[in-house]
Amino acid sequence: MGEIFEIRNGDGAGRIGELTVPRAGVTVETPALLPVVNPHLRTVEPAALEADFGAEMLITNGYILYQSEEFRERALSEGLADLYDFSGAIVTDSGSFQLSEYGEISVTNEEIVRFQRDIGSDLGTPIDIPTPPDAAYDRAASELETTRANSEAAAGIDVGEMLLNAPIQGSTHPELRESAAADADAHGGGFDVFPVGAVVPLMNGYRYADMIEVVRAAKRGLGSDAPVHLFGAGHPMMFALAAAAGCDLFDSAAYALYARDGRYLTVSGTDHIEDLEYFPCSCPVCSAHTPAGLRGHPEERREELLARHNLHVSYRELRTVKQAIREGNLFELLERRARSHPAMVDGYRALLDDAAALERHDPVSKGTFFHLSADSARRPEVSRHHDRLGRLSVPGDSVLLSAGGDNSRFDATWRLRPPFGPVPPALSDSYPLTAERPDRLDREAYEAAAAGVSRLVEANPEVAFAVAHWAWPDAALAALPDCVELLELGAEHDPTR
Ligand SMILES: [Zn+2]
Repeated sequence: MGEIFEIRNGDGAGRIGELTVPRAGVTVETPALLPVVNPHLRTVEPAALEADFGAEMLITNGYILYQSEEFRERALSEGLADLYDFSGAIVTDSGSFQLSEYGEISVTNEEIVRFQRDIGSDLGTPIDIPTPPDAAYDRAASELETTRANSEAAAGIDVGEMLLNAPIQGSTHPELRESAAADADAHGGGFDVFPVGAVVPLMNGYRYADMIEVVRAAKRGLGSDAPVHLFGAGHPMMFALAAAAGCDLFDSAAYALYARDGRYLTVSGTDHIEDLEYFPCSCPVCSAHTPAGLRGHPEERREELLARHNLHVSYRELRTVKQAIREGNLFELLERRARSHPAMVDGYRALLDDAAALERHDPVSKGTFFHLSADSARRPEVSRHHDRLGRLSVPGDSVLLSAGGDNSRFDATWRLRPPFGPVPPALSDSYPLTAERPDRLDREAYEAAAAGVSRLVEANPEVAFAVAHWAWPDAALAALPDCVELLELGAEHDPTR
């Protein structure tokens, strides 16, 4: 680990990275989407995934191959790359899903890890126990022990150049997730990628805040350079959120499973093909068909076309996320995506709860900060500025913090810009204090500005501060320290006039 994963650009906890996969001889750019390929139901051929969608990595189930009379021997003799006609990296899963669905599987952990090695998997997975959300603590802890033991045993097998996943389980108990992650991370060179498992029930239940809590707990236990796979995250509506939480790999069975049910993915949710009169998309499928035309195709063809649209929209969203990381406006993208569903708002807010963790990796300078909603006041840039104010020493005996005019009665005048608060003159043209804000600001922006004033006042107890404002909300004024003198500006400073 470390040598195989390199982080190039970051925004919040989100990052663009390069995952080197030695056995395939390829380097995969992350965040990456791994389409799930079921050998028995190839809705879209792996070669087409590569040629038409740019897939650099796919995932297939090693246990299904192990059990398949049709494919087992071919996989062993030809190897996965030839069997699938795919030149990128191929990840294999171990049968944990079948274990959780049916209660047992007919292979041992060691056998399935060796099998994955023998069929030429690039990244193999030991058998983990996907403890569902809300499981009792004792059950989650004891199943986690099995997962740990299986990962340990897998790390003891000579797997050659095959990389190894160390699945992180622990149900919805953050302390278990964190300790599982810390143990796997401390193992040294044994593990390469860290999938956060058993989150599909959370995603299917729209429990995005709980999903983020689980991811954050795992990330706390892992080193910041550890590649994280959010197992089963295949809906494009949550890519921005999951990437902002620091997930590097996603896998999509959704593109094919949803297509089978006539469901059409968008970045803001799922539509049913029966309900659509127009396609809100310009991918090759949607450009060449109308919904009515698509419905007229034979079932198999319709399913493939829908799966292709679902893949197009997923890869487009992944590129959108990467471009946002590159430009430093992942939070702006996230604000827009979060508005697609109330549960997404919860997920976004759960992420912002840990502004300190986001702030640690956030670049100091980006494009322009857009203040788009009350949630913007909780972005890591705001808490970073407040931390800076808490360390600043103010020259002079009296300072006016002003939302508008100056006053010669004071030694200095600093601008007051919600949500950041006081702006040191030397920084007034620096990111993020050049933020674009609506004139009709939310109360939270003023309250955050008041918190910034408090930090500066606490750090400079000998300086007399005054705040000159126009119509700040009472709650924000009440949050100012008592020692601050209040001056009300004239109505000419009303930004909405
Ligand atoms: Zn489309």
